[in-house]
Amino acid sequence: MKLFIPDIAYIDPKILKYPAGEKVIEYLESLNIPIVNSKKVVIDCETPEENYAMAKKTVLFTTNGQKKLVSCRPSADYQFSLSSSCPANCEYCYLQTTQGEKPFMKIFLNMDEILEVIQSYIDKNMPNITSFECASITDPIALEHLSGNLKRCIEYFGESSNGRLRLVTKFDDVDPFLKLKHNKHTKFRFTLNSRYVINNFEHNTSSFYERIEAVKKIACAGYPIGFIIAPIMIYDNWKEEYKELFDTLKIALQGYKGEISFELIQHRFTKAAKELIVQRFKNTALNLNEENRQLKWGPYGKFKYVYKKLDSEDMNNYISKLINSNFNRAIIEYFT
Ligand code: SF4
Repeated sequence: MKLFIPDIAYIDPKILKYPAGEKVIEYLESLNIPIVNSKKVVIDCETPEENYAMAKKTVLFTTNGQKKLVSCRPSADYQFSLSSSCPANCEYCYLQTTQGEKPFMKIFLNMDEILEVIQSYIDKNMPNITSFECASITDPIALEHLSGNLKRCIEYFGESSNGRLRLVTKFDDVDPFLKLKHNKHTKFRFTLNSRYVINNFEHNTSSFYERIEAVKKIACAGYPIGFIIAPIMIYDNWKEEYKELFDTLKIALQGYKGEISFELIQHRFTKAAKELIVQRFKNTALNLNEENRQLKWGPYGKFKYVYKKLDSEDMNNYISKLINSNFNRAIIEYFT
């Protein structure tokens, strides 16, 4: 898929004191991207939909001052961010409600400080291994060519005795990572889904086959690999289509001898997310009917609608069976 090129880039003056700042500006200029020297992003369109669309083409280069990392269970011990938001428009995105009306992207350029915070958490937990997720509020692959942050991060973890990195993406631009000294300390996961879900709800992401090609390259480069199958949805033909997904994946990974992890996440939504989704995607075909769902208390202090118990058990059993029958060395890490 083509690289994401923002319509406009804001430069927080703070980044000019970091070596990466100058490089980024040169790169943006070479791409003819208009630059505004301000940390105040102005997006003021007539409708919320226009604000959303414009935000998804706007990037602010700034710094990340987060010193206290939060837990990222069940995926990793902690999460940190090299960027926030992403250029895709997934209709079900769980960030719909957390990133406000204008989810413009931020890319953080104070890598030394970010890595210092990470190191302090690794040190505190010695001699145990500490794992970190860097994709919980962003898609780091989609934005990588604008900063080179992730490459540096993967090399840092490659040299770390007790730190491990995990990331997940729906994008296929993985060539910059193939020759890095990762030492198997970074796990690359790809989010996959059935044809129906990708084609109808994951706008501006890499296609299923582009992602599969990227998986093959990353596996060949020796990285540990995994898949997040999410959000799993029930619709007409869902069983046939998820079967097709795992059949295709099996063929693509023929000859791959390593372990493959799977994380399974059923579709869920909150009341607030539903309101935003129907406003942003007026003709959405997402099934947001509360009557077919049950409420579950979420870790962020909000109720969410998940599938009813019998449906979610059926989903978990069916998908787990498909995985176990297709992959000898599969590990299903969780279903939620
Ligand atoms: S790629 Fe991920 S973060 Fe970006 S819109 Fe889709 S679900 Fe949200």
